[in-house]
Amino acid sequence: MSDTIYCEKCDDLVEYKVKSKKESYNIKNENIEIKAKVAFCKECRTELFHQKLDKINQRKIFDIYRKRHKLLSPEEIKEIRAKYHLNQKEMSQLLGWGEITYHRYENGAVPDSAHNNQLLLIRNPRNVKELLNNGKTKLTVDQKEQLKKRVNKLLDTKNKLVLNLSKNFYNKLKVSANNNDLNLNEYVTFLLTQEYFKKEKERELKKYKLEIKKQLIKNYNNQEAEKDWLEGL
Ligand SMILES: [Zn+2]
Repeated sequence: MSDTIYCEKCDDLVEYKVKSKKESYNIKNENIEIKAKVAFCKECRTELFHQKLDKINQRKIFDIYRKRHKLLSPEEIKEIRAKYHLNQKEMSQLLGWGEITYHRYENGAVPDSAHNNQLLLIRNPRNVKELLNNGKTKLTVDQKEQLKKRVNKLLDTKNKLVLNLSKNFYNKLKVSANNNDLNLNEYVTFLLTQEYFKKEKERELKKYKLEIKKQLIKNYNNQEAEKDWLEGL
């Protein structure tokens, strides 16, 4: 059985062809043009409504609009929620929005710019921490505690050094760290800092050398000038 849709003109379920067609749409008073995929009746060539294709076209239009206005995509919004281990209801409570509003954004609706800005802000765990400490949310005390833990964990990993070392090298580092009475993180930080200041010192030295050289040339030129002057007497 091949795929069929109802054609009003033929008054029957008909086979169809999919063709590309330039279409323009009006989104929030803005014109957006796309190459839409459209179904046509194989019998009478009338354009037919095809639910799946219609969805794909809508998605295309909204994507263009989102890009133009730098708005978050449904995937990006889902990512933010996943980062905090929240469900849709909790996410809407954190933001102080209606659950349906939030749900719509994850399902493809274009967020208005105020909501979009709010989402951008809570993408940063630091802002969620601030919101939990000093803001008003509709989350319960338990939910707040849970989220605080998650946020602290996210902030922690952000500050932590992530190293991918061979076991051999790792062990050597650990021994050296132990010998210096430092834990591994502290020791690596120490080494990196040392390296950084060594480079800084070298740069400084180079600068001084250059200054001295300049001064010497200046002195030499002065002497020559003096000699010329004396000879001229
Ligand atoms: Zn037809």
